[in-house]
Amino acid sequence: MPKQVVVLGATGSIGCSTLDVIAQHPGEFQVLALTGGLRVDVLFRQCVSFKPRFAAVLQEKDASELQRQLKDAGLSTQVLAGEQAFCDLAAHPDADIVMAAIVGAAGLLPTLAAVKQGKTVLLANKEALVMSGELFIDAVKQHQATLLPIDSEHNAIFQCLPADLQAHSYQSDLQKAGIAKILLTGSGGPFRQKPLAEFAAITPEQAVAHPNWSMGRKISVDSATMMNKGLEFIEARWLFNCQPRDIEVVIHPQSIIHSMVQYSDGSVIAQLGNPDMRTPIAHALAFPKRIATTVKPLNFFEVPVFSFEKPDPSRYPCLFLAIEACGAGQGATTALNAANELAVDAFLAGRIPFTSIAEVNAATLSQFTHHQATQLQDILAVDQAARRHAEQLLRTMHA
Ligand code: NDP
Ligand code: MG
Repeated sequence: MPKQVVVLGATGSIGCSTLDVIAQHPGEFQVLALTGGLRVDVLFRQCVSFKPRFAAVLQEKDASELQRQLKDAGLSTQVLAGEQAFCDLAAHPDADIVMAAIVGAAGLLPTLAAVKQGKTVLLANKEALVMSGELFIDAVKQHQATLLPIDSEHNAIFQCLPADLQAHSYQSDLQKAGIAKILLTGSGGPFRQKPLAEFAAITPEQAVAHPNWSMGRKISVDSATMMNKGLEFIEARWLFNCQPRDIEVVIHPQSIIHSMVQYSDGSVIAQLGNPDMRTPIAHALAFPKRIATTVKPLNFFEVPVFSFEKPDPSRYPCLFLAIEACGAGQGATTALNAANELAVDAFLAGRIPFTSIAEVNAATLSQFTHHQATQLQDILAVDQAARRHAEQLLRTMHA
């Protein structure tokens, strides 16, 4: 029987790559539901190809239009709308696997809904874990969900862990497993060598043009500021049950090594491959089996020389803000994530210069460092308060 898959955020970069892998393995996977946001035309085409039982979009009017188009195309897909619909589909009794690939805080509740039904959750939406790490992991334990990382670094770390830790990596005892350090690699983004004096003039087009990975706009900007690595630092803290001192960020501009685990006997285990998200997606979809993808195999006679650098705080202030927030607690990481979402949106909309992203993030974080947030309503309240604070800052900057 093929596994029934729900793809949240199907119209995005991860969503499309997921469907690409599924399309190659029709005997293994069947699409139960697809959700999108505003790109209804993309969702329509995906529904025609994969014939899911359900589809969902953000807005009611888009849902009616999509329903009409699908009916005209002879499909019986039922179209729903809104956040509750995303949550209901993520928790659908027939779903075996839920790909959580909505971007940003909007992904939290649908992803949690899947966790609370004990699903196999393929986690791309790192922001969910950044906002609610402890609560999220507690829910995974309580409802015996299976959590598999999609983020390429975390998927790599997962693959480098001892097999007996993999199933419950979020409650691993790294020291007992002989692990000295998690080495989280990152490319350094498109501005690794750009003179700092030119940072203020960086345009959105330059920031979204990542040298190695093709991704959505928000994560591309996060990669340019290295906030992405900061969010991943927090994500790793929860996924592998470790402390900030156990994680080291290493810049590896070639993006061939996707992260490493350093053991106390001196061994370092790394996962390598060409930078293509279909590899971690295929790994998690089929886990613990391996399935083929169309990713170009790594050819060691063609790969460039590997190099490594320490991240520079003056070039990547957002990374260091995230590490600080990780040490401070869940209120701080939720607030930083919220501020960053608004700041990145404002930058992409041409409202603020690139350098102001870090300013908004730092100023918001400083107001919320000591906020405690343990319950879901506290987390959502901090998220909203931080958004108001960041929006206020953005207005003064823009004025
Ligand atoms: P995209 O922007 O390409 O896609 C985002 C998806 O979320 C789209 O389907 C979009 O719908 C949907 N969406 C946006 N806002 C909402 C909302 N309010 N409610 C419901 N759905 C919404 O992002 P990516 O695919 O790049 O990233 C998705 C997640 O995966 C992020 O959390 C990112 O950090 C993570 N990730 C991505 C990687 C990558 O290589 N792209 C690598 C590692 C992690 P629509 O477009 O129809 O509006
Ligand atoms: Mg990543």
